[in-house]
Amino acid sequence: MKSLWLDTAPVIPTDPFDPEASYDTVVVGAGLTGLTTAALLARSGQRLALLEARTVGAVTTGNTTAKVSLLQGTQLSSITSHHNAETARQYVEANRQGQSWLLRFCDENGIGYEVRDAYTYATTEQGLKSLRKEHEAAQAAGLDVEFTAETELPFATTGALRLRDQAQIQPMTVLAGLAKDYRAHGGRLIEGVRVTGARHEEGAVIKVATSQGEVTARHLVLATGIPILDRGGYFAVLKPERSYAVALPVTGEVPQGMYLSVDSPTRSLRTAEADGISYLLAGGNGHTVGRKKYTQELVDDLVDWTVENFAVGSAASYAWSAQDYSPARSLPYVGQLPVMGSNIYVATGYNKWGMTNAVAASLALSAEILGGENPWARELYKPRVAPLDAASTLRDNAEVGLSMLTGWAAGLANSTDTAPPEGQGVVSRENGKPVGTCTVAGETSRVSAVCPHLKGVLNWNDAEQSWDCPLHGSRFTAKGTLLEGPAVKNLDPA
Ligand SMILES: Cc1cc2nc3c(=O)[nH]c(=O)nc-3n(C[C@H](O)[C@H](O)[C@H](O)COP(=O)(O)OP(=O)(O)OC[C@H]3O[C@@H](n4cnc5c(N)ncnc54)[C@H](O)[C@@H]3O)c2cc1C
Repeated sequence: MKSLWLDTAPVIPTDPFDPEASYDTVVVGAGLTGLTTAALLARSGQRLALLEARTVGAVTTGNTTAKVSLLQGTQLSSITSHHNAETARQYVEANRQGQSWLLRFCDENGIGYEVRDAYTYATTEQGLKSLRKEHEAAQAAGLDVEFTAETELPFATTGALRLRDQAQIQPMTVLAGLAKDYRAHGGRLIEGVRVTGARHEEGAVIKVATSQGEVTARHLVLATGIPILDRGGYFAVLKPERSYAVALPVTGEVPQGMYLSVDSPTRSLRTAEADGISYLLAGGNGHTVGRKKYTQELVDDLVDWTVENFAVGSAASYAWSAQDYSPARSLPYVGQLPVMGSNIYVATGYNKWGMTNAVAASLALSAEILGGENPWARELYKPRVAPLDAASTLRDNAEVGLSMLTGWAAGLANSTDTAPPEGQGVVSRENGKPVGTCTVAGETSRVSAVCPHLKGVLNWNDAEQSWDCPLHGSRFTAKGTLLEGPAVKNLDPA
C-alpha cells in the first residue's frame, strides 16, 4: 500500500554517508520530528548529520492524515483527567507554538496548505458526553472551541465541537521544504543508514554505531517514532496503534472541514488535491499493532463506509496504514533520556497528533541542545514520576505479557507444510521455534517469526503484507527486512 502523499512527493536530494565523521549533533530519523529539529539546529550553525534508515517520511509522517489542528479528539479531557487543567493549558500552548511555527515556515517557503475548520463529532449519547467533557477541558485550557449542531456530514450527529481556521498539509511537501532549508544551512541528510547503538566515551563524546560504520557526536536525538536503544523503558509506556486511510476521487459535494468522530469505530475525514484531482480521505479502524487477524478487512470497511456516505468514486485510488504511539498518561515524552542518557534526547508519544506535537518537541529539544529554554516546555516536558505505576500502563503491559504467552503457545501448537495462499502468512513450529511462512507475488518466503527486539512472536498483516510484532510494534517485510519499530535488526532466517 502507498499513501497519496508518498506517491505524489517531491524529490528530496540526500548526501553520502561519511564514516568516522564528527558532528555537533546526530539526529536519527527523517520524519517531521527529525527534520524540524535538524533544520532548527542547522540554522544555529551546528554541524549536523540526519541519519534515516529508509527514506525521508517513509514511516509515519509520509502516511499520516496531516491535519494541523489544535482540536484533537478527546486529548484535552484525557490530559486533564490524568494531570490537571494547567497541564492541559501548557499542552495547548506547546501545540499552538508548533502549529504557528509550521505554518509560518510554509508561508515563508511558498509551501501550500489549506485553512479549514476542525470538527470532533458524536453520533451517540455517550459520544455527546465525551464532547461535553472535551468542551469543558478546552475552555479551561484557553482553546476557543464551540459546540455546534451544524456539520456538513450527510448523517445524523448528536453534536459536534468546532475550532475554526486550522490547517491541512501535504506532509511530504513540508518535509521537502524542511530538508531544503536544513541542507542550505550545511546539514547532511543521509538515507539508508540505520543507527544500531550508541555509547558514551571520554570527553562527552557519543559514538553512534550505524549499519555503515561509526560516527561521533556531542548530542544525539532519537527522532525514530518509538525510541530505539531501549534506554528509559519507553517501549513499556507507549502503545503502538496502527490505523488505516483511504483516498477516493470526489464526484460531487463533500465536506470541506476536517472531521474526527469521538465514537468507535473512529472516522477521520479531510480533502486533498493532487495532480489536479480532488480526493476525500477517510481514516480510522485503528488497533494495537500486530493484534488484528485480518487487516485488509479494515481497509475494505473504510472504503465501503466512504462510498456509502459521500459523493466519491466507487474504488479507492490510494489506501495505506501507519502507526503512532499512545503514551500511558496522554502526554508526549520529550527531552533527555532519564537513564544513561546524558546528551541523548527523545521525542515520542504524540498519540496521532504529531503534526503540531512534533514541531513543539523540536522547538523544545533544539532550545535545550543550544542551552536555551522555552517557558511552555519546561513544565510540560518535565520528567514525571515513572509512569509504570499508572493503571493504564499496568494494563498495557499485562496485554503485552499475554500477547507474548499466546504468541509462543500458538506458534508452538501449529504446524504446516503447505505454502499459504497468495497474500497470506502463517506461523508454525520448526524444531520448537516459531517460523513465519508467507506467499507474496507468487514467492513463498520463510523467516524466523521471533522479533529481535524482545522476542515477541510475530503475526501476519495481510493488508501490508508484513510481519508485525504484537508486543511493541516492530514490523518487517515478507522477507524479514526491518520496516519500523524499536527493533534495530532484520529477522533471522528460518
Ligand atoms: C494513520 C495516522 C494518521 C495520523 N494523522 C494525524 C493528523 O491528522 N494530524 C496529526 O497531527 N498527527 C497525525 N498522526 C500522527 C503523526 O503522523 C505522527 O505523530 C508523526 O508523523 C510522527 O513523526 P516522527 O517524525 O516522530 O516519526 P516518523 O515519521 O515515523 O519518523 C521516524 C523516522 O525514523 C526512522 N528510523 C527509525 N529507526 C531508525 C534507526 N534505527 N536509524 C535511522 N532511522 C530510523 C524511520 O525510518 C522514520 O523515517 C497520524 C498518525 C497515524 C498513524
